[in-house]
Amino acid sequence: MKYCKKCVMPDTRPGILFDDEGICQACRAEEQKDRIDWEARYEELKILCDKYRGMNGDSYDCMIAVSGGKDSHYQVYVMKELMGMNPLLVSVEDNFPMTEAGKNNIRNISERFGCNIISLKPNIKLQKYLMRKTFEKYGKPTWYIDRLIYTYPMHMAIKFNTPLLVYGENISYEYGGVDREETYSARNQLNNGVASDIDFNELIDENISVKDLILCNSPSIEDINNKLDPIYISYFLRFNSYQNYIFAKKNGFKDLNNEWKRQHHIEDFDQVESRAYLVHPWMKYPKFGHATATDYASRFIRYGLISREEGIELVKKHDHNLDSKAIEDFCEFLGYTVNEFWTIVDKFYNRELFQKDKYGEWILKNPIWNDV
Ligand SMILES: [Zn+2]
Repeated sequence: MKYCKKCVMPDTRPGILFDDEGICQACRAEEQKDRIDWEARYEELKILCDKYRGMNGDSYDCMIAVSGGKDSHYQVYVMKELMGMNPLLVSVEDNFPMTEAGKNNIRNISERFGCNIISLKPNIKLQKYLMRKTFEKYGKPTWYIDRLIYTYPMHMAIKFNTPLLVYGENISYEYGGVDREETYSARNQLNNGVASDIDFNELIDENISVKDLILCNSPSIEDINNKLDPIYISYFLRFNSYQNYIFAKKNGFKDLNNEWKRQHHIEDFDQVESRAYLVHPWMKYPKFGHATATDYASRFIRYGLISREEGIELVKKHDHNLDSKAIEDFCEFLGYTVNEFWTIVDKFYNRELFQKDKYGEWILKNPIWNDV
């Protein structure tokens, strides 16, 4: 494992590039933002909105894919209040027990900005079955939900005739990944690796048919090309997770402060909707040797909020330490004992990156705090 010289990201993040100076692509993308003419980009967004505003008469002008989180608050504000659009919001629920913050936030977004939200509650029977299957086989428990988060808004935008479909940031470009070209168009988002790497044929069995997976199928290429103009709003406005959080908080968003101190996170405002979901992003740790603490420490360093040394301390303390409440909720929903859970996770520890210590705990062979 090699670490970025500027942030704390290792080169094991899938698709990430490092340059000759040992700086990761996400740090370079952040530097690049200082050189972008944001006023010109903002004008581009206005032109795009002008193109679609009123296309359905008094009906909807665009669709926004929301989770209810801090970024959703900002996106809805931009589209409705700055751009004067009449947006319809769509969301996908993960069916896990929600946090108090999560319940507040999705309600708040509707009340604060005055928007309808159409929310998909996926088939729970199928979800449980698929989650167990994708967790045990690929270490990707929420694949079904993540896939729907990308595909369901596309299906809905086609049905409502709102080609302009707004997503947040291009995660591959912003944070490093395979689909790393900087573009306003989110047409290829589905292929960014989050939920594109499992072949449907491998999921279909005596309990799951093609019909069950219909909403997580991509619309046809013709429909995507002719009926959709999906965008990353982060192309048009300087996108900063922390700034979005500060904005959202002033507008009624609640973080997890006073509710839950997450052991493996270093902040309390990202992905706050449910506890069980967090198992999925944490599964990067056994596979790639880094998880959410590394992600956020890297972002905070790039934003100038903490030093690299502080980032390293946070990673050391939190990254491996998957929160017990997340595990509890996850196991209860899927019917695992905690012991069964860890037996499955154990299979996914990358033997090239990890070794067991004398107590049988997996430890990184080359952690960042030894990388001097
Ligand atoms: Zn970096």
